[in-house]
Amino acid sequence: MINLNKNIYYAVFGNPINHSKSPKIHNFFLKKYDLNEKYIRICASKKFFLTEILSFFKNGGKGANITLPFKEKVYSICTNLTKRAKISGSINTLKKNYIGEIIGDNTDGIGLLTDLKFKNLINKNDNILILGAGGAARGIIYPLLKFGCNIYITNRTIKKAQILSKKFRKFGYIKCLKLHQLNKNKFQIIINATSAGISNNSPLVIPSDIFNKKIICYDMFYGNTDTFFMKFCKKLGATRVYNGIGMLVNQAAHSFFLWTNIFPNIKNILDILKN
Ligand code: NDP
Repeated sequence: MINLNKNIYYAVFGNPINHSKSPKIHNFFLKKYDLNEKYIRICASKKFFLTEILSFFKNGGKGANITLPFKEKVYSICTNLTKRAKISGSINTLKKNYIGEIIGDNTDGIGLLTDLKFKNLINKNDNILILGAGGAARGIIYPLLKFGCNIYITNRTIKKAQILSKKFRKFGYIKCLKLHQLNKNKFQIIINATSAGISNNSPLVIPSDIFNKKIICYDMFYGNTDTFFMKFCKKLGATRVYNGIGMLVNQAAHSFFLWTNIFPNIKNILDILKN
């Protein structure tokens, strides 16, 4: 049972959740726009997650973010879905509307694409290798295909990557690759969409010869210093290496817009998080 104080209306649910910077971002937005409301992090039980989230909304919650490992599971409690949530099968944002329905959305994809464009890292026809086939990977595939990129996907459990490549192939070029097939292809961007970084692990045994000076390595995970994946890529010669802070702030802005109808200015919070 979740007890909400009067002004707590928003939360991020995940397990683990301590690493999340979402409360910092959303409390910054709430304050900036004079909304006397708070956003907290909730470490959800792996077994009772759905009951906990329903209880949150029953007790006055207005909006929530969902993070690993619940992005696919939460689909089942949504009354309505946005188009991007329906296509991805993965939810990172929930909103309770004025008639009590729970709307599911996915802002991860637009968050990543906005950051890649802002940093001038992505071009139409780029070959992008995605490591991972969990909820976050599901959220980013459609926007990247729609932008005109070719997607290659691999995962520790290869079956899950095969399922995603079948699911999304009607939207563009997507191919599942096993690890030993990676070095037969040339990629412009590698995106780490695994959760290995949380336990400070290497995502997968990636062949070193796919790395070069020009390749862009983007870790969706983030920390105050270089993540394990970022250090790994730099060691193998990559120089254009980024973490997922830009994506995080952009996806948060789209969630905030869904909840409040205000599209927040992200510049200040980006500066705060970078420093
Ligand atoms: P999920 O739990 O849904 O999926 C986890 C994925 O990581 C699976 O593909 C899993 O493989 C793989 N994985 C986990 N541990 C390892 C390991 N030790 N070695 C190799 N692969 C591993 O998580 P999400 O998809 O929701 O999140 C993935 C990551 O993306 C997280 O680090 C999260 O913080 C980050 N993220 C960042 C965002 C941002 O805004 N910057 C937004 C969303 C997510 P398998 O299928 O074999 O279990």
